[in-house]
Amino acid sequence: MDRMEFLKAMAMLPLATCNMKLQDFPKLVEKGPNTSKMPALFVGHGSPMNALEDNTFTRSLKQLGAEFKKEGKTPSAIMVVSAHWLTRGSFVNVSEKQKTIHDFGGFPQELFDMQYPANGSPQKAKETALLSHLLHETNEWGLDHGAWTILVHLFPEANIPVFQMSIDYYQPMQYHLDLAAQLRALREKGVLVIGSGNIVHNLRMSIPKLQTGDNKPYDWATEFDTWVASRISAGDYASLANYEQIGSAGKLSVPTTDHYIPMLYTLGLADGKEEVKQVYESVEYGGLSMRTFQVG
Ligand code: ZN
Repeated sequence: MDRMEFLKAMAMLPLATCNMKLQDFPKLVEKGPNTSKMPALFVGHGSPMNALEDNTFTRSLKQLGAEFKKEGKTPSAIMVVSAHWLTRGSFVNVSEKQKTIHDFGGFPQELFDMQYPANGSPQKAKETALLSHLLHETNEWGLDHGAWTILVHLFPEANIPVFQMSIDYYQPMQYHLDLAAQLRALREKGVLVIGSGNIVHNLRMSIPKLQTGDNKPYDWATEFDTWVASRISAGDYASLANYEQIGSAGKLSVPTTDHYIPMLYTLGLADGKEEVKQVYESVEYGGLSMRTFQVG
């Protein structure tokens, strides 16, 4: 029951019942305001150039951020699980200061000049680390392009604290679903968790298409992206941890697992078969899925 529902329920009670004391509602007192359960997001981040561009994808992110604001769902903090922070072991960045990391080459100076000046949240990051024995605190890293190139559109004011959690690249797929499940309480604490990667991410096969301006998706990319969407809507997340079962479309779409794993964190944060809203979908340059969705 959120605060509004509680107030409505109280208004409907006979007056005598309202003599109940506040301590009769310990949970409500403890929770206080701004604890409505946060959704969890998966964003297909694609090219770093999206940070500078105004296109259908970046407009969908802007609109999503505006909806959060309108619905009073401003997060108390944001935790990003980015495809670009791979480690041995799982780490949470507990620093107050978060540097904007330009972890790419060959892009215009304008992109290197961009900053996302949000602070970290040592308190929320430490609370996160306490939720699982698998998590370790660190002061390394900052905000890589998997985080800031999407946050500049979602929350352009950069006034919400942000920190990242790393991906242990030496673990099986199921590890990531299981770790995410241990972090579900974050949603109750007003923390917005964003998985940032790409469901289909085959740059080697996309670059020739990019060079010739051919934007037609490869059949295997459409097949895999559609299969993932169908498993999500069926609530069948276990199959997604076993994506290799679908054969060559899976192998071509996920040549390395770095961009695929962030999605497992978003889905692992779902409470059972929670509603999943598709925010954006397209396959660009033949083999790059921009599918973006919201849990809850
Ligand atoms: Zn990336």
